[in-house]
Amino acid sequence: MASALTLNTGARMPILGLGTWKSTPGQVTEAVKVAIQAGYRHFDGAYVYQNEKEVGAGVRAMIDQGVVKREELFIVSKLWSTFHERSLVRGACEKTLSDLKLDYLDLYLMHNAMGFKPGESFLPLDAEGKVIPDNSTFLETWEEMEKLVDAGLVKAIGISNFAQSQIEAILNKPGLKYKPANHQIECHPYLTQEKLINFCHSKGITVTAYSPLGCPDRPWAKPGDPSLLEDPKIRAIADKYKKTAAQILIRFHIERNVAVIPKSVNPERIKEDFQVFDFKLSKEDMNTIMSFNRNWKIIVFDQASNHKDYKQHTED
Ligand code: NDP
Repeated sequence: MASALTLNTGARMPILGLGTWKSTPGQVTEAVKVAIQAGYRHFDGAYVYQNEKEVGAGVRAMIDQGVVKREELFIVSKLWSTFHERSLVRGACEKTLSDLKLDYLDLYLMHNAMGFKPGESFLPLDAEGKVIPDNSTFLETWEEMEKLVDAGLVKAIGISNFAQSQIEAILNKPGLKYKPANHQIECHPYLTQEKLINFCHSKGITVTAYSPLGCPDRPWAKPGDPSLLEDPKIRAIADKYKKTAAQILIRFHIERNVAVIPKSVNPERIKEDFQVFDFKLSKEDMNTIMSFNRNWKIIVFDQASNHKDYKQHTED
């Protein structure tokens, strides 16, 4: 049986979801259908992934065929940085809903703390190749996110890629109406995020781990980069449990009460990645996996290093 985390709204978020970044529009509808049939109920998307219409088509097909009901699904999307200004937040959320053909999201996240200049480009750059900021602050954007809950467009709101100090700024904001329900961060055995996860959990904020398999399909992968899936130490643990390396990497988060969203468009791997509820990692093996931490961060946003709100979410 798949398990779930309870959000500070009282809602239940299935602990395992399907990631959809880099899933091409031509592949993702089928991937979502296969995933729902395999038992997935949680889907992680974002406007900036440019495939929400196709994700929505997969969801709709399974609802129409009676395989699943909308209320059994947990659909997540994210507000992109070029929509942080107060006047743009609601329209961005409505666009995602209309692309997905849904009338509410279960969770809507600020994709990161930085606002970028609104316009056609998702990544507006200056002549030096640095991102052009907007005039927003993430606290103002958060207030607009809160209004989406009141308008019934989203059931819960959260954040992604925030540093601890930025989360504290939200929690300490005068007039705060809703605390973040979830923080989505890069997390895997090479970046175990103990401090940030403990902080979030101490504040009643659930955590979701992204790039749990080490994001091997990242466009900037180089030969010689560390590989979680090929790490002999992970493989030895996998052999011991008669599981695959991917299944160990996924189960690692479940043992920590952290949600996890591996991405796949391959039917066999989608099913494989869900077969993680029939075993447990021992405390000893969890400690061994935790010791593989090397603070290796895959998703680094160098082009935004000039931004006033640029922080690695591994920093305080
Ligand atoms: P993952 O770590 O999930 O790795 C995905 C890669 O692993 C793909 O190449 C996939 O290939 C492969 N794979 C999947 N299952 C297996 C398996 N069982 N054995 C071998 N290879 C496998 O990378 P992502 O970076 O995509 O992270 C997951 C999700 O997290 C994203 O898709 C997105 O939804 C979210 N995310 C959020 C971010 C944020 O800023 N909030 C940033 C990055 C990710 P194939 O598809 O061919 O199976």
